[in-house]
Parts: sequence; C-alpha cells; structure tokens
Amino acid sequence: MTFEALGLHAAIVKAVTDAGYTKPTPVQEQAIPAAIEGRDLLVSSQTGSGKTAAFMLPALHRLALADEAPASRTPAQEAQSAKARGERVRYKPAQPKMLVLTPTRELALQVTTATAKYGTQIRRVRAVSILGGMPYPKQMQLLAKNPEILVATPGRLIDHMESGKIDFSQLEMLVLDEADRMLDMGFIEDIEKIVAATPETRQTMLFSATLDGVVGNMARRITKDPKVIQI
Ligand code: AMP
Repeated sequence: MTFEALGLHAAIVKAVTDAGYTKPTPVQEQAIPAAIEGRDLLVSSQTGSGKTAAFMLPALHRLALADEAPASRTPAQEAQSAKARGERVRYKPAQPKMLVLTPTRELALQVTTATAKYGTQIRRVRAVSILGGMPYPKQMQLLAKNPEILVATPGRLIDHMESGKIDFSQLEMLVLDEADRMLDMGFIEDIEKIVAATPETRQTMLFSATLDGVVGNMARRITKDPKVIQI
C-alpha cells in the first residue's frame, strides 16, 4: 500500500515522502481513506503506531483542497484595513476548521510539530497550540492570525472560549487524542463543554488506548456511525 493509493493529495504525499516515510502504518491504512470520505473514527491504538499522521494527513488533505480555492482574508488583515479606513479596530474571534484536543502540553507540541512537517507543501495551513502555562498575550496574538488548526489542552481552551476569543461555528474536524488519558486527568466536563460548542455537522475522530468503559461511552455519544479501528 502507498500513500497515493490512500487517496491523499499530492502535496501531502510529497511531504511524507520528504519526511522519509515509505509506506503507511496499519492504523494509517485503515483510518486515512475513511477519514477522507468524511467518516467519524474510533481508533484504539498506541503511541508509536503513527496515529498522529492518521488524523493529520486526512485533515491536511481537506485543507490542501481548500487551499486551491481563492484566498479569504484573515481577521488581522481585515482589522488592518478597518484601521486604514479610520474605523475602530475590533478583532473577530478565531474560527478554526480543525481542533485537536490532547491531554498534555508535550503531546500538543508534538502534534503541532508534526502538522508543520506534514503541511510544508500547503500554503495556507497554520497550526497553533493553546496550552496552559503559556502567556495569554502571546496566545491572543496567535489566535488573531485566525489559524486553520488549533491544538489545545482542554482547560486553557475553555478560558479562551469563555472570553470570546474562539468561535467554533466553522469547525469541520474535531480530534480527541489520547482520550482515555484526558478522562483519567479529569477533563470530562471540559471536553463535554467544548464538544457542545462545535457544530453537529463536524467530523469526529477519537483515539484512545482503550475504547471500553467511560471513554467508550463518551466516544459513542460524540460520534455518528463511526468506523471502529482496533490495532
Ligand atoms: P505517533 O504514533 O503518531 O506518535 O508516531 C510515531 C512515530 O512514527 C513518529 O516519529 C512519526 O514521525 C513516525 N511515523 C508516522 N507514520 C510513519 C510512517 N508511515 N512511516 C514511518 N514513520 C512514521
């Protein structure tokens, strides 16, 4: 099996080839074609299985297709022209297309780094991490650029949502990475609140070491007719 055969955009195939990947891992083989079709996924797989690329490559594929459409202006650019016209500058909230929730800062940074690596051939893809411990002014600056992808730990994301900095009405894809660990860390209420703020029409991909018990219940509640993949 090749990355081309999974149906990925040439820009993505080039990026993974440049990264030295010769063929998809088993979880990528099963997840990527279904994700490109728009299916929800419930995936039980371990770290090291290539799960990050299993959700990021199809997401970038979609953004690469959107990248071929005419450019829209960022809220920061709109604010600049408003200023030039002498109007009062009012920043609009960020409207990400994809949100990845992770249990820890380290994992969020890994996902953001991987996204940059896989997205090198796509012009308009910016991924931003929203993490506890990072200064608010810096994060507000990053959000003002209206990134397509947000990678966040749940607690800090809620803070920004509550202060009106993020609007999820344009969200197309929601990923819960290491969902079992997020629940173990007590993030269930935050996750429920975040999911409730996203459109019903979103695509949801949930990755977890296990799909039993509490995580399985939540997984089934927040997905629609998911493809279940056990590696
Ligand atoms: P993950 O399970 O997402 O943490 O990925 C584990 C490691 O495997 C990362 O260092 C990736 O860069 C690498 N990786 C992911 N997919 C592939 C692939 N198809 N071929 C070779 N390495 C890969």
